[in-house]
Amino acid sequence: MSVASTSAAAKGRTLVWFRKALRVHDNPALSRGTLHATACQPVFVLDPWFCQPSRVGANRMRFLLQSLRDLDAQLRARGSSLLVLHGEPRVVLPRACKKWRVDSVTWEHDIEPYAKIRDAAVRGALERAGVECHAASGHTLYDVDEMLEKCKGAPPTTYQGFFKIVDKMGAPNAPIDAMEKMPGSFASSDEETKALVQGVADAYGIPTLEDLGYEPLGDDEGFPGVGGETEGLRRLRLMLARKEWIGQFEKPSTNPTTRFHGLSQSGKTKPKSPFEIAAGRSKDGDASTSGAEALMIPSTTALSPYMKFGCVSPRVFYHELTAVYKELEGKHSKPPTSLMGQLMWREFYYLVAAGTKNFDKMEGNAICRQIPWKKDRELFAAWENAQTGFPWIDAAMTQLRREGWLHHLARHAVACFLTRGDLFIHWEWGRDAFDRDLVDADWALNNGNWMWLSCSAFFYQYFRVYSPIAFAKKYDKDGQYVRHYLPVLKNMPSKYVYEPWLAPLDVQKKAGCVVGVDYPAPIVDHSAASKRCVDDIATAYAAHKDANAVAGKKRKASD
Ligand SMILES: Cc1cc2nc3c(=O)[nH]c(=O)nc-3n(C[C@H](O)[C@H](O)[C@H](O)COP(=O)(O)OP(=O)(O)OC[C@H]3O[C@@H](n4cnc5c(N)ncnc54)[C@H](O)[C@@H]3O)c2cc1C
Repeated sequence: MSVASTSAAAKGRTLVWFRKALRVHDNPALSRGTLHATACQPVFVLDPWFCQPSRVGANRMRFLLQSLRDLDAQLRARGSSLLVLHGEPRVVLPRACKKWRVDSVTWEHDIEPYAKIRDAAVRGALERAGVECHAASGHTLYDVDEMLEKCKGAPPTTYQGFFKIVDKMGAPNAPIDAMEKMPGSFASSDEETKALVQGVADAYGIPTLEDLGYEPLGDDEGFPGVGGETEGLRRLRLMLARKEWIGQFEKPSTNPTTRFHGLSQSGKTKPKSPFEIAAGRSKDGDASTSGAEALMIPSTTALSPYMKFGCVSPRVFYHELTAVYKELEGKHSKPPTSLMGQLMWREFYYLVAAGTKNFDKMEGNAICRQIPWKKDRELFAAWENAQTGFPWIDAAMTQLRREGWLHHLARHAVACFLTRGDLFIHWEWGRDAFDRDLVDADWALNNGNWMWLSCSAFFYQYFRVYSPIAFAKKYDKDGQYVRHYLPVLKNMPSKYVYEPWLAPLDVQKKAGCVVGVDYPAPIVDHSAASKRCVDDIATAYAAHKDANAVAGKKRKASD
């Protein structure tokens, strides 16, 4: 591990603006803002733009609030504390810097469109007021701008091409140690904090979900893991301690129907439900009361929410994983399917997203195939509300709503079904639903993967369609996953659990699930629908080829 470069560190009274990177370890913005500061105020601004159930679902909001509590605890252990201000950053931060006589502000660089506009507005206002601003790279293994320079602003759209850039970059920098002691913050008592905030923000402090207008989550809802750096690092390290598992990790062989289950510190699985194990914690999932001894995992690491909010540094993940591989003396799986391969997919999407105009749209996006997707609200609502009549799809969509997380291959299945597999609905609609409901919703990864799954970019084998019936059966013959998320099917014989409409009426009645009454009939005939989708995409691809040929001829003519 290394320490931050001292020459770049900010001096005087500083403000560290947390957004993602909700951690004290390996946090370049925090290091820069604190190393030589005489006093430093860590701040998180609870932006009303995000605090809406229609934009950020309750599961993700709860995870964020838990992560903020943990960050505050980490900072307090180092002699500082987190001040959570409520309001628009471009209003609140300039006011705060003026009132608090701040010399410089640091934050982590963010490539998301909303963040870019927000950060430019904040930077403009602060710099006009003479406050120095610095954005540090920390959300990815490499500085995305440096990577873009290496590929001359034109990111590769293949994983192989991406690795050529990685080779040019060399190994990611070593992580920065967490500081043992931080400079004092601007207020040291409740009274002083109150005075500090007056005239800066209307409200402050870490609210509850209900304070923000969210419905409370039910006992069986929420991501089965408490948010925050403490839990993120604990999970990472317990995961990395399973060396054999790490060495053999092959993403396509992991099981999308494995539910979160307890794994004790010794590595033995416990037959408890995630919610039983997590029962020791408060409704808000306060990290300090989590008390869970076990690690709740599905068949992959489920670290994605911790990566999304930056509770775990990607560089720590990378270097600690590399150390495990070293111990395994090269006997381990390799990218693209290995665990390191997964971290690199994340990096790949960040690079392409940062270098592609209109990355989150079909129109005006140079890497995205133009496909005449349908805009059918009724079909979309059936998909979104787990009412398609295909139990595997509906069970996965129920898990998404309830827990805010889905295995990668379950994401594949529901995304394929919505777009090129069955319904032919625009990937942007599916992307929006994921963006609201996923705890790990991440702009670059979500858009990139939706384009992949809909065969709009990166992957073009549109004739390979996931069957909403046969796919999950391979992993879970008796349909335990489906029975769990759709209890209406719990007594359906295994033979019919993935296609209950085929069960004779007396069997349906006996199982307490009559199709069309207790559970919907399928909204499409899968074989006919998927054939139509394949034909329609073939036509769109042919048009794309023709358009490219015409563009090529025009280019030649003008040369
Ligand atoms: C349609 C669709 C939408 C998706 N949207 C998101 C999203 O919004 N946020 C998100 O984090 N992931 C997204 N993914 C990618 C992937 O499904 C999740 O990252 C993964 O399932 C998270 O589980 P895990 O942490 O157990 O992954 P692991 O397999 O344990 O991988 C470790 C880490 O590598 C990264 N990673 C893994 N797979 C991918 C991938 N395909 N692309 C990019 N990074 C990856 C994640 O940070 C993950 O936490 C999406 C996939 C699909 C098909």
